[in-house]
Amino acid sequence: MKFCSECAHPVSLQVPPDDNRPRYVCTQCGTIHYQNPKMVIGSIPVWEQDGETRILLCRRAIEPRYGFWTLPAGFMENEETTTEAAMRETFEEAGARVELHELFSLLNVPQVHQVHLFYRATLLDLDYQAGTESLEVALFTEAEIPWNDIAFPTVGVTLKYFFEDLARIRSSGGSYAFHSRDVRKPMRQPD
Ligand code: ZN
Repeated sequence: MKFCSECAHPVSLQVPPDDNRPRYVCTQCGTIHYQNPKMVIGSIPVWEQDGETRILLCRRAIEPRYGFWTLPAGFMENEETTTEAAMRETFEEAGARVELHELFSLLNVPQVHQVHLFYRATLLDLDYQAGTESLEVALFTEAEIPWNDIAFPTVGVTLKYFFEDLARIRSSGGSYAFHSRDVRKPMRQPD
């Protein structure tokens, strides 16, 4: 940040009185510009058929990570809820209509000032198509997922948790859990 959004004068990075970390403070009007983490929200669109569980992934048509695969997700907008954001991003990136279920994962990514949330979801039909931010959209079984070409660590972590839960549910019943963890580079495997 270089200029004040209130008066357009230059800002300087300094610790305001009674604060404990540097903020961008306007040199003219004194406005303190607080910066806080952004929410990235997405879904895990599931399609069950012939005893197989498939997940809908999008191949990114934009940077960062052009050409890599991701769950549909993006920045939450003002004046929408987290579930609205998940459904909107799923439709914008994958052209897919889903029924949302419980929140499945919450990943803190402190080094990039983000919190990522993913909801489990059921695809309502197979009438999906790549949005402008996707090169292609496709369904994958666990074995088919391009694990080495996943765009973001939080997506890989979420997919690993999902298929671990699915295997446990198939072998011994139960239900999906909620998974929360911090994701720092370099990526570590789920605990
Ligand atoms: Zn100012």
